[in-house]
Amino acid sequence: MNSPPDLLDKLRALFARVQSRSAGQPRPLEAVIDDVLGPCEVSIEGRRTITFGSNNYFGLTLHPDVVGAATDALQRYGTATTGSRITSGTLALHRALEDDLAQAYGLRHAAVFSTGYQANLAVVGALCGEGDHVVLDMDCHASIYDAVRLSGAKIVGFRHNAPDFLARQLSRLPAGARNRLVVVEGLYSVYGDLAPLRDILAVCRDAGAYLMVDEAHSLGPYGTRGLGCVEDQGLLGQVDFIVGTFSKTLAGMGGFVVSNHDELAVLHMVARPYLFTASGSAANIAGVRAALRIVTEQRDLAERLWQVVHRVRDGVTRLGFRTSDTASPIVPLLAGDVESTYHAWRELLAAGLYVNLIAPPACRADACVLRLSCSSAHTDAQVDEALDALARVGRGAGLIA
Ligand code: PMP
Repeated sequence: MNSPPDLLDKLRALFARVQSRSAGQPRPLEAVIDDVLGPCEVSIEGRRTITFGSNNYFGLTLHPDVVGAATDALQRYGTATTGSRITSGTLALHRALEDDLAQAYGLRHAAVFSTGYQANLAVVGALCGEGDHVVLDMDCHASIYDAVRLSGAKIVGFRHNAPDFLARQLSRLPAGARNRLVVVEGLYSVYGDLAPLRDILAVCRDAGAYLMVDEAHSLGPYGTRGLGCVEDQGLLGQVDFIVGTFSKTLAGMGGFVVSNHDELAVLHMVARPYLFTASGSAANIAGVRAALRIVTEQRDLAERLWQVVHRVRDGVTRLGFRTSDTASPIVPLLAGDVESTYHAWRELLAAGLYVNLIAPPACRADACVLRLSCSSAHTDAQVDEALDALARVGRGAGLIA
């Protein structure tokens, strides 16, 4: 007789699979960094390891201005706010960062959240609810999907980067549907491809839909002042809502939205992920302010980042890896099935190179990716060392001939 289902059955099955797959081996989702040796170098299991796994696009986590601003704020304000933005957790620093962001983008309103994930939950949740439609690019980040689910609005997907499919999906919505929000990213984080924002915006305008662009990975590398793909494609002031994170180029934690819609001024009254969680610490916010200043003013960092991107792309292409057509700070190595990609990931780690493994549910089971994220702080020597490891492991794992 079958025993009745148990609450832990689902986890038990996964636990057994994970145990059998990687007995005694490091696991991709659980690698532990013992120490940080530099912006692109860490220690893992006592071994010096070059990292192409972080989103530290300008290497600002260790920049003296960012560390200095964070240290001063830590000394002055203490370790935490211990409150949400509406319950004693708003410091003048949070407001100052909101002003910085609004000013940088040349838009009237900005709001800061505790993570980028929560920025998406908050904006979509405040704008949309039951009976509304959110039409999103099918490659959008999990936080955007979760945001729509939580809001109660209906998710309508459209084929990745295909404005004609977007137009078709919008035309199929019920005629009376009031609320139409389209959500895309500037730079997509798995394959490193860019959204055709001008065409997407035109489709939105034709269909009376609002457009939100998540610039999580594009803030820093793109645009003449590093503000992202909306700036790069000449659309600042036209896209309805720009969302971003502090956890990548800006070397902190948190997220934001900027917009010219005056109604955004009351977002904080209805956005639950803003109301019911603690605000970012003073050290974090002060560090992000310093990082934003560097990003918008020191564009030589972007120039160096693109040099690294080309060195990495040329190298992996020469070695015979399959990668994306778009040159971007995200260089995906198209690896194949789960088992062989896991194997290659482990071998690379043993060779002193950390890359990100993208496996289901983040992609199809036969389309796993080893993702390299470039940084302006990577030295040529680090890139060459990484390419050596990729050549050795890629051949052994059958990823290249
Ligand atoms: N949006 C996108 C497109 C992302 O890639 C990420 C993080 N990977 C987030 C939002 C979430 O940002 P955070 O890490 O600040 O929560």
